[in-house]
Amino acid sequence: MSTLPHTARAIRDAVAAGEVTAVEVCQAHLDRVVATNPSLNAFNTVCAERALAAAAAVDARRAAGDVLGPLAGVPVAIKDNLCTNGLRTTASSKILDTFVPPYDATVTARLEAAGAIVVGKTNCDEFAMGSSNENSAFGPVKNPWALDRTPGGSSGGSAAAVAAGCAPIALGSDTGGSIRQPASFCGIVGLKPTYGRVSRYGLLAFASSLDQVGPMTRTAADAALTMNVIAGYDRADATSSASAVPDFTAALTGDVKGLRVGVPRAFVSNGVDAPVLEAFDRAIATLKDAGATVVDVELPNAPSGIPVYYLVCTAEASSNLARYDAVRYGHRTTLAPGDTLQTMYERSRDEGFGPEVKRRIMLGTYVLSAGYYDAYYLKAQQVRTLLRRDYDEAFRSVDVVAMPTSPTPPFTLGEKTDDPLQMYLTDIFTVSANLVGLPAISIPCGFDAHRLPIGLQLTGRMFDEATLLRAADAYERATQWPTLASV
Ligand code: GLN
Repeated sequence: MSTLPHTARAIRDAVAAGEVTAVEVCQAHLDRVVATNPSLNAFNTVCAERALAAAAAVDARRAAGDVLGPLAGVPVAIKDNLCTNGLRTTASSKILDTFVPPYDATVTARLEAAGAIVVGKTNCDEFAMGSSNENSAFGPVKNPWALDRTPGGSSGGSAAAVAAGCAPIALGSDTGGSIRQPASFCGIVGLKPTYGRVSRYGLLAFASSLDQVGPMTRTAADAALTMNVIAGYDRADATSSASAVPDFTAALTGDVKGLRVGVPRAFVSNGVDAPVLEAFDRAIATLKDAGATVVDVELPNAPSGIPVYYLVCTAEASSNLARYDAVRYGHRTTLAPGDTLQTMYERSRDEGFGPEVKRRIMLGTYVLSAGYYDAYYLKAQQVRTLLRRDYDEAFRSVDVVAMPTSPTPPFTLGEKTDDPLQMYLTDIFTVSANLVGLPAISIPCGFDAHRLPIGLQLTGRMFDEATLLRAADAYERATQWPTLASV
């Protein structure tokens, strides 16, 4: 591994220049997967043969003098809730543990069309419901920085895979922080694009008004490169946006002079671990030294983000997960003579879904039920509008809003599994971007005293991922964190 380039951009350039073959790159990353998976458990499925065949095809295209795609020969890992044609896709759920999709998610198809090599499907919380990857039917993922810690969730396998050098790019999905929080916990970059920027076609739906797919990488430049490939209108997703997609790599000027960075001080100071707050303040000072202006902003409704999020996401989940009825696909219980259709549904779902998924289906069904709808779901949607207004107001005076990604560094495995509410509270800084639809990025901004990674989150205007990537890249250049994150 050490002799091969570590970033997607460098791998792509080295393959294109003939300095290394795509097969060599692929084999080195597969070796890394084999070496680390017994301890990390980051992959549910590894597809070595398929990957090597795809890499050989890239090498053959190069030998024939064909034009190579922008990610030709770059290994990628795909979260296991994104459909891959002919390759098992489980959402880390027992209910789908043998499901082989007959089609690709648009994002997977676009990556492969750009020459990227899928090495495997990454472990995650079941149906992306969780903040620690402990709600997986395939067991928890371990944090590569400290094996007794969570890598975060729900895209914990994707984050661990990138941090451990199994692939320079992984795709994650983010409904309330599932790209950004694991990126923060594993010392890498994670971008949740604007709602509608990236197609959700082929993403196993959790909460459809919040879900977005996005890149997890070591550098902002690699996130930009990935966005160039996956972003843009898709007729298969009615919520995908027709807004023009800029060249995100062109935005990486290294310059943040004049960038106005908003800090919601009252919100950020509450209940945050001291090392996180210190790292956050240092990061803000670094941006200031690089020429950014720091402005106080207020997000008065942000503290309501958790209750609003957990009402909206459970309501949508209860509806989305109704499709797993054991009739057309997925786990079906063993039937005995005399069992009714009702028994088949009930027992299949009881056996197939884990405890957190069941909790959310029940909570969601309750908040949507007659008599409670107005008090819960409708109220949550109203507060969601207030939150949108808070951000509209803030973006009158700033270009990005800065917060820690998570109030704590990665916590210990098992620490919060007995108390769902404590687990939910860890999402306080990430959920509002999803509720409002805004793009947000997490970038490494240091370590605590135990050398556990800490992340800085920047939230931007609708469809302004370019500014987030520019700021992230400039910050990276001004610090040593990305170098450390790729050891
Ligand atoms: N941790 C949040 C939850 O449990 C967010 C999950 C996600 O973004 N998929 O719902």
